[in-house]
Amino acid sequence: MKAWNEECAVFGIWGDPEASRMTFLGLYAQQHRGQESAGIVSLNEGHHIIDKGMGLVGDIFKERNLQRLKGKSAIGHVRYSTTGRNLVENAQPLTAELLNGPIAMAHNGNIVNGDVLREKLKKAGAIFQGTTDTECLLHFLAQDKRNDLGACLKDAALQLEGAFSMVFMSHKDMYIIRDPKGFRPLVLGKRKHEEGESYVVASETCAFDLIGAEFIREVEPGEIIKISDEGIESERYAEKPGKLSQCVFEHVYFARPDSEVFGKNVYTTRKSMGKVLAKENVVEADVVIPVPDSGIPSAIGYSEESKIPFELGIVRNHYVGRTFIQPSQSIRSFGVKIKLNPQKAILKDKRVIVIDDSIVRGTTSKKIISLLRQAGAKEVHFRVASPPTTGPCYYGVDTPKKEQLIASHQTVEQIKDFIGADSLAYLSHDGLKHAVVGDEPEFNFCSACFTGDYPTDTFES
Ligand code: AMP
Repeated sequence: MKAWNEECAVFGIWGDPEASRMTFLGLYAQQHRGQESAGIVSLNEGHHIIDKGMGLVGDIFKERNLQRLKGKSAIGHVRYSTTGRNLVENAQPLTAELLNGPIAMAHNGNIVNGDVLREKLKKAGAIFQGTTDTECLLHFLAQDKRNDLGACLKDAALQLEGAFSMVFMSHKDMYIIRDPKGFRPLVLGKRKHEEGESYVVASETCAFDLIGAEFIREVEPGEIIKISDEGIESERYAEKPGKLSQCVFEHVYFARPDSEVFGKNVYTTRKSMGKVLAKENVVEADVVIPVPDSGIPSAIGYSEESKIPFELGIVRNHYVGRTFIQPSQSIRSFGVKIKLNPQKAILKDKRVIVIDDSIVRGTTSKKIISLLRQAGAKEVHFRVASPPTTGPCYYGVDTPKKEQLIASHQTVEQIKDFIGADSLAYLSHDGLKHAVVGDEPEFNFCSACFTGDYPTDTFES
């Protein structure tokens, strides 16, 4: 079965006395982007040292692992995918020994023409280890005999369609590439240390905050950056399209609220989503409560705008994984109860507005509403701080198939009845745009999961 490179984070650091430790921390800060596997590859005296495993960063990497990962440069990756099997072969960074030396790579995103590329490569004799499209890149590099990694990468990248924010490390340099449409975030920073400064790259700025690195700028869509002991060189390998396709769902749900994503603070955009939602659809109620944690910033915005008091009506147990990552429907519903506990003292006899960032299958909201009623809520009005999710993402966010997305085949009224709410309203698409870009004329975002307007010619179904 094919695996998508869904929900991942990348990290890279060049020229740092504590490279593997910083990579560990950089991955730790980005754990929300993937919990299935993690890996670090360090560069020590021209050789790669590799350590990968299944599970969480803190469980895989202990002191002895980090001591083994010697060297002043490293790259790392966390990954989560439901579509493929949980194979350690799919865990990244992927590594290979090529004609011109060792190569390691970490990828966030999903290559939509991956199937076609895989078939072409297999016909030409390539042997694939795992089931991810990312491996195609290694084969392109293996087939290209030029001793110029930058040139090989530029040509390889031009064959890819879809989302890719990638970091490569050879025996003497590091390359960073972002796809021309800019689907996934990728940021560049600098860390000061006793020996000087090191360059760092990450999916989200929250990784820089933890390691005390300074944010320099985003990696531009269509840009390739080389980092080596000689410094940093940047080049554009592809034209910037008229409109970018930055993923709006990073702002809705996926990124951490303390990150700056696509130049905007995520907490602020989420709070605006709540404010706009309140402007678009308010209802008389006694209290506004979030579904923690994802609904908190938008519930604060909703409460501020509507002047209805904000309360933590549901308390979350933080030591349970996301309900979403449980394998079966029965365990998933059970998971909601383990994770979320409604507070009777806040809810009893109250008219409650509940805010969540999104409804996917509808399972979570149904369960939450039933728990709120059990806790004594008199009315439950569900408000969603994004438009109805009607289509899967083919660019790196894990969404179920279209038929499992409740809004793809049910009206808002039907969904309201299914989840058992007294009323249900979603943020409009114009409202979402306004919350993210304000009065800026251009909306340089992909919102295909809400509109069905996919920005690439091919995508997989
Ligand atoms: P569902 O029960 O399928 O409707 O799931 C809705 C919940 O899943 C919401 O609380 C969202 O915060 C959360 N969610 C939305 N998208 C994702 C995703 N890609 N991965 C994990 N959780 C998600």
